[in-house]
Amino acid sequence: MENKKVKSKRVENKSDLKLIKEGYITVIAGPCAIESWEQLDAIAKVVKDLGLSFLRGGAYKPRTSPYSFQGLKEEGLKYLKKINAKYGLKTVTEVTDTENVDIIADSVDILQIGTRNMSNFALLEKVGKVANEKNKKVILKRGWASSIKEWLLAVEYITLRGNTEVVLCERGIRTFETDTRFTLDLSAVPVIKKLSKLPIIVDPSHAVGQSDLVIPMSRAAIAVGADGLIVEAHSNPSQALCDGQQSLNAKELAELVRQLKNIASVIGKKIR
Ligand code: PEP
Ligand code: MN
Repeated sequence: MENKKVKSKRVENKSDLKLIKEGYITVIAGPCAIESWEQLDAIAKVVKDLGLSFLRGGAYKPRTSPYSFQGLKEEGLKYLKKINAKYGLKTVTEVTDTENVDIIADSVDILQIGTRNMSNFALLEKVGKVANEKNKKVILKRGWASSIKEWLLAVEYITLRGNTEVVLCERGIRTFETDTRFTLDLSAVPVIKKLSKLPIIVDPSHAVGQSDLVIPMSRAAIAVGADGLIVEAHSNPSQALCDGQQSLNAKELAELVRQLKNIASVIGKKIR
């Protein structure tokens, strides 16, 4: 019985779509928060039609204010499963607590650990264990007040539990600058390339906090050597319940992909 289970897992392994692939830039796009089936379905269709393979969407939202929308939680996970079945898109969502890691791992392909939890070591250990058991990939965002060294030590809480399919994500750090939400530390990309074998992606959306700055910083991230991007996109950003001001609409997302294709070709890569 046990053997049979392990065997079927291995088959799933082989057919798995890798989060990061040699020669490609992975673009993960989707809403900050899942708000309804219709909202998620509309943006998933856009993502699919652009030829991308990964959809992001928060079901459990760790908000700075307890009065802000906290996410649809289990209902949101159901929608992510449905999206995967409908479009074949791989799904990314954030784990916020040791209590929700198992249910999230049963619903999506990639577990994201957010900036606020980079140093939540109990959560990192739990994610490492569950991701290893359930063959899930992990994205570890950089804490907004964490050094690169602290980030690289944090990631070992995950990899020591056996899961080495971890991707780091630079999402901006806190500085004295106030014209952007955070300061995107793009030098982290070549530094990580020097210090670690792990892939690194960039989240320009949370770093800059304004949609019109997302495309330029995405171009820079690719040029500096990032393995991918995670960007917020919404079919109707002005109505978004979370982070609408920094979300690309469908047209802007298409423009991002168009521009990235040009840059990628210069550095011998393709967009996926
Ligand atoms: C997110 O990606 O939805 C998010 C909350 O990002 P961060 O943890 O970087 O703030
Ligand atoms: Mn967000």
